[in-house]
Amino acid sequence: MKVHKHDAIIIGAGGAGLMAALYASKGGADVAVVSKLYPTRSHTGTAQGGIGAALGNLDEDKPIYHTYDTVKGGDYLTDQAAAKILAENAVDAVIELEHMGLPFDRTSAKRISQRRFGGHTRNFGEELVRRACHAADRTGHMILQTLYQQCIKNEVSFFDEFQVVDMIVVDGVCAGVVAIELGSGEFHIFHGKASFFATGGWGRCWSVTSNAHSLTGDGAAIALRRGLPLEDMEFFQFHPTGIYRMGILITEGVRGEGGVLINSQGERFMERYAPSAKDLASRDVVSRAIYLETRAGRSIKNRGYVHLDVRPGTVNRYFAEEGRDRGDFIDDATIERKLPDILDFCRTYLGVDPVHEPMPVQPTAHYAMGGIPTNVDAEVVIDAAGAIMPGAYAAGETACVSVHGANRLGTNSLVDLVVFGRRGGMKVAEYVKGADWVALPGDAGNEIRAEFDRIRGGSGASRPGELRQLMQQTMMENVGVFRSEETLQQGIDDLAELRDRFHKDLQIDDKSRVFNTDLMEAWELGCLLDLADVTARAAFERKESRGAHSREDFKARDDENWMAHSLVSMSGEMSAPHFELNFDRKVDLSLWEEEIAQGLPEDQQKFRPIERVY
Ligand SMILES: Cc1cc2nc3c(=O)[nH]c(=O)nc-3n(C[C@H](O)[C@H](O)[C@H](O)COP(=O)(O)OP(=O)(O)OC[C@H]3O[C@@H](n4cnc5c(N)ncnc54)[C@H](O)[C@@H]3O)c2cc1C
Repeated sequence: MKVHKHDAIIIGAGGAGLMAALYASKGGADVAVVSKLYPTRSHTGTAQGGIGAALGNLDEDKPIYHTYDTVKGGDYLTDQAAAKILAENAVDAVIELEHMGLPFDRTSAKRISQRRFGGHTRNFGEELVRRACHAADRTGHMILQTLYQQCIKNEVSFFDEFQVVDMIVVDGVCAGVVAIELGSGEFHIFHGKASFFATGGWGRCWSVTSNAHSLTGDGAAIALRRGLPLEDMEFFQFHPTGIYRMGILITEGVRGEGGVLINSQGERFMERYAPSAKDLASRDVVSRAIYLETRAGRSIKNRGYVHLDVRPGTVNRYFAEEGRDRGDFIDDATIERKLPDILDFCRTYLGVDPVHEPMPVQPTAHYAMGGIPTNVDAEVVIDAAGAIMPGAYAAGETACVSVHGANRLGTNSLVDLVVFGRRGGMKVAEYVKGADWVALPGDAGNEIRAEFDRIRGGSGASRPGELRQLMQQTMMENVGVFRSEETLQQGIDDLAELRDRFHKDLQIDDKSRVFNTDLMEAWELGCLLDLADVTARAAFERKESRGAHSREDFKARDDENWMAHSLVSMSGEMSAPHFELNFDRKVDLSLWEEEIAQGLPEDQQKFRPIERVY
């Protein structure tokens, strides 16, 4: 196998990977980025709504308010010190992106324009604040282009269309990764002092998802298979507004501009579920509300979707009712200017013109709050006490810092990428200066090569496409927005059967080597099955409702017993592995503890868990 040697191997070229690569290279490291997609095709490029930072350009705002919203939005599972770092670093990070040339929209005073987003408030929940910085509805695209240019300028080496399929761990230290060059089907070893996973999410476990086809959780699955734990896997966010049946995302920015959700009775039903935040309540709340409306027989045509209405007539009528300033009122031109891509998607894929008609939307699997556990410097954590694996790093959606707790606020993922990608990149630069090279074992890569031979050579009766569809269906039905012991058990049983078929009865059609997407998709299905399984198992064990995890048999949040992160690990035979799960990693409540130490009376303790208001 060909061996490539670089100080730092960054796996993934989305926002997190590129930011880490940029900062590791700025710190003097020799950096290689290995990516299965061409970098600018990474999912970060589809992020529409914006990146949150308390710049205060349009409303009074402070990082501490952003910290509070992040903790409360995460339903108090968020690690509080990490949330503070996120909110404080967000301000510099956005200004830095601007200086790199990112073309943000502007206010009339030529400052970075900001819009409202769910759960982002001023003065500890007093009112919604304009915090999301945006470049029309193409913010992620601009971030990706900007960072890619900077990496090229800094002479980062790129290995595009190389898919990492295993990591090499020698005596508890990560020594690199094994990848397949998609164009030739050949295996390559990337030998590095530091390996940095930034491989994104795994929305493809579910049938209706906003996630691209490539989001199969490879990095998290590889870590799990190499004995690392995954954290908080039971928390997966459903975004309330995916295009009906297709899942394509309609950004929350539409509601930020005044769009409202309407049921079959013509009611703005969010007024009932969240009287103050209404349509901009946090995503878990809005997704549950849509399901409850559906159950009550009030979805449109009884088909499980509702309408998202951003027609100026509707929006202005509600603005008038709320006594909003006439200056806030919108017209057709405002929508065309602020939401060009959304209009284009709807016109192209639905034949619906949002300027004149409402859009049909339903909850869509969107974002993994859990993932590879890390500390605030992106070092991979291997146990509840916070021990790290030297040489292993992770950031972005594949990682769990944890800043999103049980539910991520809109615009906080892009912040997470740039803030923790940057911190991780700096840490890597420092680490590789002092660390010794770990020698590669003689058999490096052999095990995974054998696994690929098995998949390619299989002559069973099960095709990956069929197994994938069954997995996505059971995840949607049994491990979706609402869960119970019964549905989760069903999910676990279904997944066990699919796992068995995957390992014992598989066959793929294409046996060739060059650009064999059939083979790679089969391997990715194995990753999805592992991640689906640990998601269902962690959800089964968490006997409370918190954030995105809603148990019909345990409806209340239970801070007494469940203020802890789950850690799940897997060992033994891949066809019938053994799982271990614990809740020993306690949530960091340091901001609240500081308030207590300062002697603040209870009603002034902002970071004290408060009851769920929904
Ligand atoms: C439609 C949509 C809209 C969104 N809008 C917003 C928004 O407005 N604001 C916000 O904050 N968040 C938003 N999000 C969430 C946010 O965009 C993502 O969480 C974030 O972009 C993930 O970035 P990442 O760097 O972790 O990974 P990604 O951008 O997903 O990139 C993953 C990278 O890993 C590589 N990779 C994966 N597997 C392998 C492998 N095995 N080997 C080699 N390379 C591999 C891929 O090639 C890719 O380069 C949105 C998400 C979606 C899906």
